[in-house]
Amino acid sequence: MDMSLVPEGPYRFRMDRYGPMRVPGVVFATPDLLPRSAEDRTLEQVANVATLPGVVRASFAMPDMHWGYGFPIGGVAATDVDAGGVVSPGGVGFDISCGVRLLAAGIDREALAPSMRRLMDLLGDTVPRGAGRGGLWKLSGRAQMEKLLVAGAGYAVEQGHGVTRDLERCEDGGALADADPSQVGQRAVDRGLQQVGSLGSGNHFLEVQAVDHVYDAEAARAFGLHTGQVCVMIHCGSRGLGHQVCSDHVRVMDQSLRAFGIRVPDRQLACAPAVSTPGRAYLGAMAAAANYGRANRQLLTEAARRAFATAAQTGLDLVYDVSHNIAKIETHEVDGVARRLCVHRKGATLALPPGHPDLPADLADFGHPVLVPGTMGTASYVMAGVAGNDAFASAAHGAGRVWSRHQALHRVRGEQLRDELASRGIAVRPSSWRGLAEEAPDAYKDVDLVVRAAEGAGLARPVARLVPLGVVKG
Ligand code: 5GP
Ligand code: MN
Ligand code: MN
Repeated sequence: MDMSLVPEGPYRFRMDRYGPMRVPGVVFATPDLLPRSAEDRTLEQVANVATLPGVVRASFAMPDMHWGYGFPIGGVAATDVDAGGVVSPGGVGFDISCGVRLLAAGIDREALAPSMRRLMDLLGDTVPRGAGRGGLWKLSGRAQMEKLLVAGAGYAVEQGHGVTRDLERCEDGGALADADPSQVGQRAVDRGLQQVGSLGSGNHFLEVQAVDHVYDAEAARAFGLHTGQVCVMIHCGSRGLGHQVCSDHVRVMDQSLRAFGIRVPDRQLACAPAVSTPGRAYLGAMAAAANYGRANRQLLTEAARRAFATAAQTGLDLVYDVSHNIAKIETHEVDGVARRLCVHRKGATLALPPGHPDLPADLADFGHPVLVPGTMGTASYVMAGVAGNDAFASAAHGAGRVWSRHQALHRVRGEQLRDELASRGIAVRPSSWRGLAEEAPDAYKDVDLVVRAAEGAGLARPVARLVPLGVVKG
């Protein structure tokens, strides 16, 4: 197979069509950020995605790309829903609506320093984490779950877990419309009942950070950020419920491929036309799981607010909440015609340009906030959407892994990493040494490079850089 990349600019490569590809691939990266080893199948996955029925423009990969289930992580692809375009659960991922929420504290890092230890102890004790752990909010049963699946963060706020303003700073106002709880199986519901308000496993975290550099003071002000300010970044998703929804619908779509006459180069790309019965069933269930993920982050916000109120007598305002594993029906212009597309963002963040009608009014001049976590030992970034992003207004979602968890375990010892971070003033509250080692900063790409590439490629621009002070790891 010929997966050679043709440079189209300093941060952009094209993969020409070959074989069954319906559109080219476009990879946003510098040579340093491209997959390195011969065994790395990320680029093959970019090519595979380009074969999906109805796919338009290109199969895109963000600078933080790496191998994933079916789609690469950092993969973006849109299909024309009115022209046979498919939806593929592999284009969303198992952790539906995994995403990031950033909160701005009413305190600066020097003022917080004396209370930091107490704050981290409180957060460590009160933030549920670890693979199978229960959450902060136990739901009474399916009826209550269905309300949460329809209204997402809005239901959590309505039940007293937050303030109305929070919803103004959530993508889609905190809930995707078109959630269809009837397509969420009982097993998924059962898995989710006890887990609302929990981080989950190792890559998920609640991190106390400080703004250490502002690139655009005006945008930062609109977002509610200034140099020296303490922030909280929460990264988590839809836990067992989302995972089960993905498994259930992948199975159905795998069986319906033949009926729709769809051939995919990889079974992990199981899919169905977005307007078909299985396609709509998945989209309805996916939206429901997405709303669960948003409610989950809302509950963890409440836990963070309690800890900050107790340890630092200060509040936390929501800067923004984004999902980076999601498929949405959006209208984009393709070849001069407005088309209804199913946009898959798998490890990629929506990055609407300034002036877009879906932006909150007070952010309209600045573009959609793009939250880019780095690692627990490096910076994380707040970026903003820009005009002219041809990847359907999408940008990077993190640094992106370079080592598998297995490789990280071989190379890093958790206790040693904790000490190293502590010596740099970063307090960690791990849930296991193993989990900590798997998430070592060296296991990820250089986030500064990823952000530079995203900026250079015209995907988004930096607004502020954050550095870690303490991290509660899943
Ligand atoms: P994913 O959703 O792909 O699991 O993770 C998104 C990104 O989160 C990763 O690419 C990585 O850059 C970042 N990340 C993982 N662990 C941590 C952490 O403990 N702190 C911060 N700030 N970022 C992290
Ligand atoms: Mn996740
Ligand atoms: Mn994630």
